Amino acid sequence: MEFIPIKTFDNYIPANLLLSKMLDQDIHCYLKDEFMVTIDPILANAIGGIKLCVADTDFVRAKELLIGFEEEQKITCPKCGSKTVEYIVQPKNPANWLFAIASWFLTSYALKGKEVYHCFNCKYEFDSIEEPQENI
Ligand SMILES: [Zn+2]
Repeated sequence: MEFIPIKTFDNYIPANLLLSKMLDQDIHCYLKDEFMVTIDPILANAIGGIKLCVADTDFVRAKELLIGFEEEQKITCPKCGSKTVEYIVQPKNPANWLFAIASWFLTSYALKGKEVYHCFNCKYEFDSIEEPQENI
């Protein structure tokens, strides 16, 4: 049995979350270089991060599960139900150019934008992810 890397991580938390999801589905897998990266994170780039390796016999099924898990994690737009939502920094419009220049000179965080979820389908923007409403 040969093991093939299916996904890499730079942090052990998401790596272990995915590992346990895969083990729940009876996929033969393990994390390679988990301790190396955890002990010395600077090495992560040099050795290619933490690698989730799956058995070659389970690879096709693991790939399908991985796509399913990634689809589940995507945020759904509360307005149109689209999954084309991303967390972006919304540029703040200065009241006028004088205020913009003054704040640029006086603060190091000049006009930091507001962070919002932006739907690329219907252009709706929202601050937080609302829990889906359950019909009782
Ligand atoms: Zn939308």
